[in-house]
Amino acid sequence: MGVVNFLKSFLHNARNTALNAVFPRFCVFCEREGSLVCGECVDRIPVRVKPSCCICHKIGSFSVCVECKKETPLAGVISLFEYGDPAVRRLIEAWKYVSDAEAAPIIKKWIESTINKTWFFPEKVTYVPLHLNKKRARGFDQAAQLSECVAGVFGVSSDCLLERKINTDPQAQKDKTERRVGDWGKIFRACLPLECDKKIFVCDDVYTTGTTLSAAAQKLIDSGINEVWGFTLARG
Ligand SMILES: [Zn+2]
Ligand SMILES: [Zn+2]
Repeated sequence: MGVVNFLKSFLHNARNTALNAVFPRFCVFCEREGSLVCGECVDRIPVRVKPSCCICHKIGSFSVCVECKKETPLAGVISLFEYGDPAVRRLIEAWKYVSDAEAAPIIKKWIESTINKTWFFPEKVTYVPLHLNKKRARGFDQAAQLSECVAGVFGVSSDCLLERKINTDPQAQKDKTERRVGDWGKIFRACLPLECDKKIFVCDDVYTTGTTLSAAAQKLIDSGINEVWGFTLARG
């Protein structure tokens, strides 16, 4: 093992030990203490959501239905799990807010066993980036990790296609009036040139009102992408 790798692994282990001391881990499914998913729950996967329109929730398909097309530039949003499922919520919180390194491989496993590759094939996978200041504070971008994982399942590349110009306040996004098309253009800048012109996925961790995903999709479409689908781990 090279010195750099040794140091990385040492720091990683030291960080995890410190993390465990401060935040003891509990199984996200059965709450047994010790790890994020205990030996007994290791093969459990949360219930997959029923495909539905992300705007009006009409069951049937992940595509945005004909009646809701005017509400968003997204072709559809694929969400795998419900954020209301305690196991899903606990894992996302450990991953995102505590930056628990144990969470990422579990999320990867959940995604791999849930994605249905017959849905359709994205040509490329990208993500809704955090604002640089937020990424510095958190140390990593969870949507970028998600994008790499999803791209890996489909055997395509995960590329950063957007840069966040405005650090949006999550509270503001809860307000539906924020869905006005006029505000969307200011949030992101496209990392040009975009070489892809067909169908892509934009990943984010949780879908709530869809404002940010819609803004990201609009910027990508304005930059020449034909069809943009949202892809989120959970639906709020
Ligand atoms: Zn358990
Ligand atoms: Zn609809």
